[in-house]
Amino acid sequence: MDLGGQGRRVVVIGGGVAGSLLAKSIQFHSDLTLIDEKEYFEIPWASLRAMVEPPFGERSVINHKDYLTNARVVASSAINITETEVLTAEGRLIGYDYLVIATGHTESVPKTRAERLNQYQAECEKINSARSILIVGGGPTGVELAGEIAVDFPDKLLTLVHNGSRLLEFIGLKAADKTLNWLTSKKVEVKLEQSVSLNDISDGGKVFQTSGGESLKADCHFVCTGRPLGSTWLKGTLLKSSLDNRGRLMVDENLRVKGRKNIFAIGDITDIPEIKQGYLAQKHALVAAKNLKLLMTGEEGRKLEIYRPSSIKAIVSLGRRDAVAQLPFTTVCGSVPGMIKSRDLFVGKTRKKLGLDPHTVLD
Ligand SMILES: Cc1cc2nc3c(=O)[nH]c(=O)nc-3n(C[C@H](O)[C@H](O)[C@H](O)COP(=O)(O)OP(=O)(O)OC[C@H]3O[C@@H](n4cnc5c(N)ncnc54)[C@H](O)[C@@H]3O)c2cc1C
Repeated sequence: MDLGGQGRRVVVIGGGVAGSLLAKSIQFHSDLTLIDEKEYFEIPWASLRAMVEPPFGERSVINHKDYLTNARVVASSAINITETEVLTAEGRLIGYDYLVIATGHTESVPKTRAERLNQYQAECEKINSARSILIVGGGPTGVELAGEIAVDFPDKLLTLVHNGSRLLEFIGLKAADKTLNWLTSKKVEVKLEQSVSLNDISDGGKVFQTSGGESLKADCHFVCTGRPLGSTWLKGTLLKSSLDNRGRLMVDENLRVKGRKNIFAIGDITDIPEIKQGYLAQKHALVAAKNLKLLMTGEEGRKLEIYRPSSIKAIVSLGRRDAVAQLPFTTVCGSVPGMIKSRDLFVGKTRKKLGLDPHTVLD
């Protein structure tokens, strides 16, 4: 295939943190199609705030069409790819010259923004009307949800059950200990090394059995056990041998899938040896965008940009004011990291990156 500046059809699969920014960055340089399971981009780390304050979702759930004014948006799952085309679940075949895979994680959420906002309303009502609440999972989602509920609804009896020996296993032990202390100080009961059988629980259920033989009473529950990696669909495609044993796409230093000249992968789906975070997924997007522009203008003779993995940095919010930060050589818990993340949860900043007003949502 001759790509020397001729082919400008770019297909981006996955409109999450990485795919949305990449698509926005190249929309005026390419003939662009974004394929995403849903019609909107959602800032993942803002969703827990929207569960306790539904209007917060107005700014963090953004229709793809709001920031993509010069692209086609296909709201469907990609289910197969060939050397030249992508097949969607609805049977559409979309041709490409360059392909970008950014299918980070999948989650079963509604297809439209309006439905997603209604879902937040329903979740908030569920929290509001419960006296006791069970959260299953002590990763970032479970911990951040516990923080939001503990701060906004201090009268709820809140229990968090986690099957690991400590919370937040993706960051350091000290950060986990500080988080446990913070939750305990807010009267959240944390049960480690226990699991709750997810098969036995339903929304009507009030008594939950743990693997430790305990019965927990709760009026409602939230399962926060982590979203699966969005690469299962690739196992039946020409990229099956590009997946490592954890299901991640192996990429080169220019963020192209190893051995492929015209297929990029960015975000959580890649095997880049670094912590999986949105701000890094955004960095991948900008590097890949630059490289795509070079390739599309036939300037591949000029050196493609190299992506260098970053050292560990992550902030987990604990309600509206506090947070725990994992930095390369230390951890900090309290209002200082809270000032960085917990007030606006980087929503204004993320909207700005997409060229949108950080504060106002236009209908
Ligand atoms: C609770 C929580 C808090 C976090 N806090 C932070 C934080 O403070 N800062 C930070 O930098 N990071 C944070 N992260 C991590 C961050 O959310 C991820 O690293 C980031 O979302 C990765 O971006 P991505 O584009 O690779 O994948 P995602 O954002 O997961 O996007 C993947 C997209 O692909 C779509 N998709 C999947 N499969 C298909 C398919 N077959 N066809 C079409 N579309 C598909 C999905 O619907 C989704 O839109 C947090 C994560 C969680 C869970």
